[in-house]
Amino acid sequence: MSETGRSPGSVLIIGAGPSGTAAAIELCRAGHQVTIVDKATFPRDKCCGDGLTSGALRHLDHLGVHPSSVASWKPVTDVRITRPSGAEMHFPLPRGPGQFAATATRMDLDAALVDQAIAAGADVRQGVTFEGIELYDDRAVVTTDDGVTTADWVIAADGMWSPTRKALGLAPDGYRGEWHAFRQYFSNVSERAANELFVWFEPEILPGYVWCFPLPDGRANVGFGVLRSTHRTQEMAGLWRDLLTRPHIAEIIGANAEPEGTHKAWPIPARVGELPLTAHRLFFVGDATGACDPMTGEGIGQALQTGMGAAQAIIEAASPAEAASLYEASTDAELAVDMRFASTLGNVLKTRVGAEWSLRTAGMTGWTSRNFARWLFEDYPRAVLGTPGRWRKDLFTQPGAYS
Ligand SMILES: Cc1cc2nc3c(=O)[nH]c(=O)nc-3n(C[C@H](O)[C@H](O)[C@H](O)COP(=O)(O)OP(=O)(O)OC[C@H]3O[C@@H](n4cnc5c(N)ncnc54)[C@H](O)[C@@H]3O)c2cc1C
Repeated sequence: MSETGRSPGSVLIIGAGPSGTAAAIELCRAGHQVTIVDKATFPRDKCCGDGLTSGALRHLDHLGVHPSSVASWKPVTDVRITRPSGAEMHFPLPRGPGQFAATATRMDLDAALVDQAIAAGADVRQGVTFEGIELYDDRAVVTTDDGVTTADWVIAADGMWSPTRKALGLAPDGYRGEWHAFRQYFSNVSERAANELFVWFEPEILPGYVWCFPLPDGRANVGFGVLRSTHRTQEMAGLWRDLLTRPHIAEIIGANAEPEGTHKAWPIPARVGELPLTAHRLFFVGDATGACDPMTGEGIGQALQTGMGAAQAIIEAASPAEAASLYEASTDAELAVDMRFASTLGNVLKTRVGAEWSLRTAGMTGWTSRNFARWLFEDYPRAVLGTPGRWRKDLFTQPGAYS
């Protein structure tokens, strides 16, 4: 294969989660030959809160994943946040046009993304595990448990532990993510839990929080996340039992709620710009490059965005060096600045006083409540505060996704 990326070349993507499939769809649309390998067989579960921000929704809309193709899709219009003092606040999202927040199980969402990648023309090889990689001037050679594949480009979309990063000797020693989070599905939850989205800022876990996100059929995704710098993972099982019995949380989940199976826990990497983004003709995307939000731990929107960003760099560049600099520049412009801003705000939420003050301020008037909810779920308005250069006239009036 030639060194230039202008004529459509072959791309091997490791991982078929949101970041890998988003990259695949964009590349197939531009005429590239795309193969994805994933060790899992879809539909597969992924430990997650299942919350979709406006940013994630806009990307899914662009990628052609329609809510009707995701069985557990549930639009969210009302957010309830409880301050450390115990006061509950109501933050309504705009009533349209379009959707500003939604939930969908990762079992369903990721399977729909895989279907969309296949429909776009990607060859998705499920149940195939990545084993090793060699990067040459003119190609990459990837070994899986199914054989050896040569490609012009590689995208590592293989999640938090990124075996590709490890195989290349680029994994930082002892790195285990910035956050650690627990998730448990419940069925037969209360009417409120089945329809509204709850977040509790409990004093002992700040800036972490407990969530209860609604799903169809009387189900909810309940969990909590803490910073690794403030909590040891060994304490988390005890904390989880304690949090679930707190009356204000137990009441919302509902007296008749039934846990489905056992809870799961998984790390959340929020370090974009500090983990490697590129290695010659290889691009790290999503959790593999630590792209989660340092304040909220959300990462689906960022996974989709980095996947599309890497794809765009491959589509536009004339050489690996140019592709790397295009991808680095787009990640910095679209994500890293927002992340630094979110990190600063995360520091305010670390203390009880800071969390009380910021949530009280957000709920001062109807306008601030409506726009705070939007601000929480929409990446763009938050980013603009950190980067006034991106201010647009329709900042608070832009319609939601699928409008
Ligand atoms: C408890 C919890 C709650 C969260 N809640 C939210 C939320 O509500 N909203 C939100 O936006 N984000 C949330 N996140 C973050 C979100 O889950 C991730 O940011 C997102 O899944 C990243 O997508 P990805 O495509 O980069 O990686 P993944 O979704 O992890 O996909 C990686 C893929 O790589 C495959 N893979 C791994 N190793 C190999 C191998 N050796 N060979 C082949 N394939 C391999 C895996 O099977 C997997 O399919 C949460 C995370 C956690 C842990």
